[in-house]
Amino acid sequence: MKVFSIFGDPVSHSRSPLMHNSVFKSLNIKACYSRTHLSDGSQLRDVFFAKGLKGANVTVPHKEAAYAQCDEVRGIAKEIKAVNTLVLEKGRLIGYNTDADGFMSAIQSFGEIKTALILGAGGTARALSIALRNGEITPTILNRSQGRLEYFTAKGFECYAWDDFTAKPYDLIINTTSAGLSDSELPIPRPLLMELLGQAKGAIDVIYGQETPYLREVKVSGLPYKDGSDMLLEQGVLANHLFMHGEYPIEHIRSSMIESFAL
Ligand code: NDP
Repeated sequence: MKVFSIFGDPVSHSRSPLMHNSVFKSLNIKACYSRTHLSDGSQLRDVFFAKGLKGANVTVPHKEAAYAQCDEVRGIAKEIKAVNTLVLEKGRLIGYNTDADGFMSAIQSFGEIKTALILGAGGTARALSIALRNGEITPTILNRSQGRLEYFTAKGFECYAWDDFTAKPYDLIINTTSAGLSDSELPIPRPLLMELLGQAKGAIDVIYGQETPYLREVKVSGLPYKDGSDMLLEQGVLANHLFMHGEYPIEHIRSSMIESFAL
């Protein structure tokens, strides 16, 4: 029996066990996936090996800690400096970031997008900005405060704090802030949001499983929109494919995982 888990703090809300166990069940894979609550991220590697895991996902706030504890980091995770998927390979811990590619798959349905405005400057914003640029979409970053913009400036992105931003047209408006997750706040002041939505082709919120105040405003605007469910699904599909070392076709994994979203 192969054992997998998700590490996070908090982690009780995570849908990952449901998603991955659904794939294991329908593809007859002898494996199970659990949750591991971890408050000290520096313990991640030790706990991974102590539990005899074959792979894991990592969520808030441990993605940077996971990056630092891998024996090898592959793909886009090297540039983002954050890891959400761990795979055991010949006794070595290999790190990947499937959030970035998962997001790019999720926005395919918006059609041709050339520019995007990312609201927020945390770990998710880092992953999405790199993925968008690699996908030839120009991202601009807008954050409430200056502090976290340093990473983006160093990477050569156009970025602003609220105080020095003036609205202009962007094709896609993306909320990566946690505003609305456990409060009733919008990610940016309402008049500015209205102005941006009025000039956009679509909008997305990476938060899933609830209608945030941001998404409510987007709905009223009549724009095509998505919450974070498709991104969640796609990052999970890619992670499962890595857990199984490519043994099962992506399409089979996706169709099995989609079933868990109806539960
Ligand atoms: P971080 O804690 O790294 O960053 C949070 C960002 O939100 C910061 O830029 C912060 O600004 C901003 N922010 C927080 N509260 C407010 C507010 N009230 N108004 C305006 N800005 C605010 O978070 P992550 O990037 O790791 O995660 C962000 C969200 O993405 C979470 O809700 C997470 O659940 C979701 N997520 C979804 C995924 C999916 O598969 N759908 C995958 C990964 C993440 P400041 O710098 O000023 O503090």
